[in-house]
Amino acid sequence: MVDERAQRIAEFIAPLRVEPGRKVKLHKDFDPRLHSSTVSRKKEGREILQTGIALLADYQARLAAQDTYGVLLCLQALDAGGKDGTIRHVMSGVNPQGVHVSGFTVPSAEELDHDYLWRYAARLPARGDIGIFNRSHYEEVLVVRVHPELLDRQKLPPESRKRIWHRRYREINDWERYLTDNGFRVLKVFLNLSYDEQRRRFLRRIDEPDRNWKFSAADVRERRRWKDYQKAFSEMLSRTSTPWAPWYVVPADRKWFARICTAAILAHTLIEIDPRFPTVDADTRAQLAAARAELMAQAPASANGRTTHRPTAAAGAGRA
Ligand code: AMP
Ligand code: MG
Repeated sequence: MVDERAQRIAEFIAPLRVEPGRKVKLHKDFDPRLHSSTVSRKKEGREILQTGIALLADYQARLAAQDTYGVLLCLQALDAGGKDGTIRHVMSGVNPQGVHVSGFTVPSAEELDHDYLWRYAARLPARGDIGIFNRSHYEEVLVVRVHPELLDRQKLPPESRKRIWHRRYREINDWERYLTDNGFRVLKVFLNLSYDEQRRRFLRRIDEPDRNWKFSAADVRERRRWKDYQKAFSEMLSRTSTPWAPWYVVPADRKWFARICTAAILAHTLIEIDPRFPTVDADTRAQLAAARAELMAQAPASANGRTTHRPTAAAGAGRA
């Protein structure tokens, strides 16, 4: 049963994965409006998402108990691509103690005083945790690439600027490989929004007062650079989808479908890790048995051997 489910999830996400080495042309290769023939309706989608959320909760509990592997999910998208909503929905069922979300905005002076991966390394998940990067180290080859003046603020020595993008792709791949080799799985989701759907979402943010806070004038300025971003995304996908840390391009024009896809991608990785609750050895089992005997011996006479036990003082205080 579980294997069948794992198989279905693997097949569902396979078309979204960018094969390592593939040269991606975003606007030609991936359709933002796509949804699969197996899940074509929102209602059906909601049910599948609920199943996915329950599955994630179960695996996350085991990941935490095993305390050996960590998972890092990097979410990238253009403005209004649906990152926040995706995180809110996909993680809605898991224990908040086991998940850490980090958002990245314009770097601070202190951050700019360090190497460019420093601030991302500081927010990596611990073993047993799921870390989510809402924007990630990939901004360093996206917004920084589209706006080279941001690079000037990074105070790089002149020799470090040679073939900089080529080098950054390699450094990011190496860093992710290092993390993977040390037990931290890295998965990367690009929420692929269409030009027209972004326009609609921006208009909604302007027209609906409760959404005004989500909109900034900079958003339309960035939108004017749409083509440059598509190019930067295409190159990023072509150069940094690796066997150890693949990219997934998720069609994002339908929010509900993007959420199912993201949940499935995370579930797939957790199923692959297959974390187990630790089992105890004979020594520990003997200790458990001894502790049990001691606790049983403390049962009040009226408890008749039942293990539930209410201290009389607390019960009395409750009544007072
Ligand atoms: P938001 O996600 O709407 O809060 O916006 C965050 C802003 O920070 C976006 O405009 C990003 O492009 C920008 N940002 C994120 N990372 C970097 C970076 N490394 N350098 C410059 N700007 C960044
Ligand atoms: Mg924004």
